[in-house]
Amino acid sequence: MGDKFLFANSEKEDADVCIFGMPFDSTTSFKPGTRLGPRAIRDASYNLEFYSMALERNIRDIKIFDAGDTGFYTNPQHAISEISEQTRELLKSDKFIVGLGGEHTVSYGIAHAMKEIYKDVAVIQFDAHADLRTVYDFEKFSHACVMNLIGNDIGFENIYQFGIRSGEEEELKFAEKTNFFPLHKYDTAQILEILDELNIDKKVYLTIDIDVLDPAYAPGVGTPEPGGITSNEMFKILNSLKKFDIVGFDVVEVNPMVDMSGITAMLAAKIIREGILNFR
Ligand code: MN
Ligand code: MN
Repeated sequence: MGDKFLFANSEKEDADVCIFGMPFDSTTSFKPGTRLGPRAIRDASYNLEFYSMALERNIRDIKIFDAGDTGFYTNPQHAISEISEQTRELLKSDKFIVGLGGEHTVSYGIAHAMKEIYKDVAVIQFDAHADLRTVYDFEKFSHACVMNLIGNDIGFENIYQFGIRSGEEEELKFAEKTNFFPLHKYDTAQILEILDELNIDKKVYLTIDIDVLDPAYAPGVGTPEPGGITSNEMFKILNSLKKFDIVGFDVVEVNPMVDMSGITAMLAAKIIREGILNFR
């Protein structure tokens, strides 16, 4: 195991894809530990093959740079600010971004910079939770508020939410303004149909909260929510997302402190390999 992703094979200047970690988890009070997520996902990547049987492609054919982690902060605004700065710099040099969380708050840092650079941007979220609260535990820069922050930035009509099966009545008022596809009404087969028909005429950022998967597949998360999708369904969904103009994605909320056998980190690493191979 090493400091970098197994398939990080390039220097920054040559790379098409840039991976970076965001070890932030300060607003996660229930089960902290996602600050260790980037490390665990990198370690798990050493169990992967370079070749994807499903996609018939080898990740060695893509130039990937691992930039390491952003700094460690306990103040969410400091973390967000550095993540935005990192994202802006990478987008200006045309890198495809892959972010490793960290708690979900970090995705706001990336989406905020994307909005600045591209003006028109949509965000597709896969998550068990709506994350649309205005404030959580006296903090508005929180994992439970991340889609509300992003909505205020890019417009709620540019948010697409899938896999959701948990939300308070108050935050679900905001779901009326987003493209909201809760899992009890839209299962994976229907999600695939929706994605097939959907057209998004702008740059798309994809955020994957690993708790969208059922806790049976992804037990190592801060806020497990029973009744989720399977690993194979996630891979099918990734494949159907490649029609969009995806400019980056993240995998957040992997918590090695509660990840039996490291299976959640393993799944995250494979999602990252399959994501890169689908989108590049
Ligand atoms: Mn989330
Ligand atoms: Mn979640």
